Amino acid sequence: IYGPTRKNSKGVNLNIRSQYQPLVDEMAKFMDKEHHVKPLLAFDVPDSPSDRHEVRSPYDTRQLVGSVQWTNKEQAKKAVDAAWAAFPRWQATPVEERAQILERFADGMENHLAELMTLCSREGGKLLTDGVDEIREAVDFCRYYANRARDLFGEATPLPGPTGESNELYMTGKGVFACISPWNFPVAIFCGQMVASAVSGNCVLAKPAEQTSLVAHRVVELLYEAGMPRDVVQLLPGDGPTVGSVLSSDRRITGVAFTGSTDTAHIINRALAAREQSAIATLIAETGGLNAMIVDSTALPEQVVADVVRSSFQSAGQRCSALRMLYLQEDVADRIIEVLKGAMDELSVGDPRDLGTDVGPVIDEDARKGLQAHIERMKGEGRLIAETKLNPEQTGDGTFVAPTAFEVEGIQTLETEQFGPILHIARYKASELDQVIDTINGKGYGLTFGVHSRNESFAKAISEKIRAGNVYVNRNIIGAVVGVQPFGGQGLSGTGPKAGGPHYLLSFATEKTRTVNT
Ligand code: NAD
Repeated sequence: IYGPTRKNSKGVNLNIRSQYQPLVDEMAKFMDKEHHVKPLLAFDVPDSPSDRHEVRSPYDTRQLVGSVQWTNKEQAKKAVDAAWAAFPRWQATPVEERAQILERFADGMENHLAELMTLCSREGGKLLTDGVDEIREAVDFCRYYANRARDLFGEATPLPGPTGESNELYMTGKGVFACISPWNFPVAIFCGQMVASAVSGNCVLAKPAEQTSLVAHRVVELLYEAGMPRDVVQLLPGDGPTVGSVLSSDRRITGVAFTGSTDTAHIINRALAAREQSAIATLIAETGGLNAMIVDSTALPEQVVADVVRSSFQSAGQRCSALRMLYLQEDVADRIIEVLKGAMDELSVGDPRDLGTDVGPVIDEDARKGLQAHIERMKGEGRLIAETKLNPEQTGDGTFVAPTAFEVEGIQTLETEQFGPILHIARYKASELDQVIDTINGKGYGLTFGVHSRNESFAKAISEKIRAGNVYVNRNIIGAVVGVQPFGGQGLSGTGPKAGGPHYLLSFATEKTRTVNT
């Protein structure tokens, strides 16, 4: 039986224990602390008990982590005023100063790794391994964007011109950006949007997801400690339909950097377009996917299964890049499904703070119910092929969903993204390959895609035909690295530019040409 990780007799992942134990010991200091936070705005926010919302741990909903006071509409409007008041000063701040704030902030996050990881785990249900990856990514975003900003916003580019005239092109911030982020990368995506926007010379109104505002609050405190002025980056916790929509319908907002579901991106797009007497806003939207992988008969079953398990079930399938639809060529399908069942039997679902856990909880009860309804529907249609057993002692008090695999006709069976540990599998004949690719492309998404084959030209040809932002050959399809695999999709999956890529900052900036008659 092939499992994704090797474990000792106590169920501890052998490959990570020595690496993580010191961190686990340090995290113990932060485990019982309660956090009660408010918006971080350029002005004082009075206490308002009626706007407070409790935060409980997804792995044990009896545990209170703290509470968050949500931003009200008036405060959101006043925050936009403050951001515009700060903009001229911030735009004129030398890029070197802005970049150095990001670098100090990256150092600060590294120095507070255990504290941030504890919050990711207690509030967001993240496994320790996922938490480390997440904070590493946030740190990478800061350092990468700091350097890109130096290149893009430093010296003006001299342009040719007739004698007696000098021309140059330079870039500046656009104004005030709303950064609206999801809960599944509560540090990395939250930071990525915020620091990209700020280092490009914009003031930022950061709206974290409702479910993960505590860690966002701690991150912004660290950003202030690194020297970011309080009126340049403000934190507006609150619910999407209130705070998010106040921001996206305010005609003074220059742009929105959004990551979340495709449906919410459409709502924001419509709100921006409906604003009267406003400039056309920039919308950078990174959204969901129905990500597929095609496996041909030359692929190695054990390698395929290791990559499928990781792509579908790591982070409880709550990654936008996660694998939802696996196509197996019919002559290898039975063998791969057999190995996959064995691997799924080996997965341990439970407390994310335990180093022996492979799959943690899903984010909340609404998510659990939605995923469970899909599972029941698929089971009712007789499609179940594998399901990891849950141990009620481990999972009884949290919002857990068992990793599950179903056999379906193809991606056409799937209506929407199921944002959890659910994999769908279909068989195909070699003669049907073009049709399979057309069907995947026809769904209109285009985020990640995988191909497993030892036939190089097959893999290359498929990579070229498929419409997807990130294509992976002979490996898992998650975990893009900043500056190495710039990340972002096409079509229903997003507008681009790619996060962690060389062009990302360009969308936060405006170009100016200066001509001088010398
Ligand atoms: P979501 O769309 O429900 O929420 C995202 C953010 O939008 C939250 O901060 C929410 O409060 C806010 N929001 C909700 N309604 C709003 C409105 N009317 N106006 C303005 N803002 C509003 O998404 P989620 O459940 O937090 O995240 C999961 C989704 O994010 C999945 O679809 C996943 O695929 C996607 N995602 C995409 C990427 C990517 O890079 N492409 C990365 C991570 C997550």
